[in-house]
Amino acid sequence: MKREGIIFVISGPSGSGKGTVCEELRRINPDTAISVSATTRSPREGEVDGVSYHFITRERFEELIEKGEVLEYTQYNGNYYGTLRSEAEKIISDGRDLILEIEVDGGGQVKRLMGDRVCGIMLIAPDAAEQEKRLRGRGTESEDVIAGRLARAKAEILEAPNYDYIVINETGKTAECAADIMAIMRSAHYAYSRMKEVTDGYFDNK
Ligand code: 5GP
Repeated sequence: MKREGIIFVISGPSGSGKGTVCEELRRINPDTAISVSATTRSPREGEVDGVSYHFITRERFEELIEKGEVLEYTQYNGNYYGTLRSEAEKIISDGRDLILEIEVDGGGQVKRLMGDRVCGIMLIAPDAAEQEKRLRGRGTESEDVIAGRLARAKAEILEAPNYDYIVINETGKTAECAADIMAIMRSAHYAYSRMKEVTDGYFDNK
């Protein structure tokens, strides 16, 4: 049986720590492919074009949407964010797993488009107070942006029923959280929906 790559959508509100956890996932498993998204927001300090994101203009982003080169996209705090079809397709066509670290709107689009090929994992902080503390702790955003992110965080958690797994990212336990996600990624390959090719017609060629 040919191993099919699974698209793991990892979502979680600002403050869930998903950026750090995804970095850890990449560190412990360099084979994990993480899609580099395109965005129209400006780079934050330390972010590198082509590594953190492909930083592009609104005009270019809209051109990509029009040409059908964006697999999913959303607008978040006034900026476009999206997954480039080329980034995703080159990985899953090789049978490799792909992580999309994206928000819930985009996660829903990918699930609708790719069905069983997608496994949704939502990452959350242990509680709302810790989530807000982490969100403010970054200290790089204005009060307006923070208010927008807090409102969005509430809306994102309401989307939890559309995800297959919910993982709590305990403070200071990035490695444990990444290990939990790795366990989910491993077991997802054995879900019935992905194994039924084996059991259907099991005795046919006896
Ligand atoms: P940030 O500006 O903090 O890097 O990202 C803001 C939000 O956009 C995060 O929730 C992040 O996961 C999400 N995001 C990043 N890339 C994409 C993408 O390609 N598509 C979608 N739908 N959301 C994304």
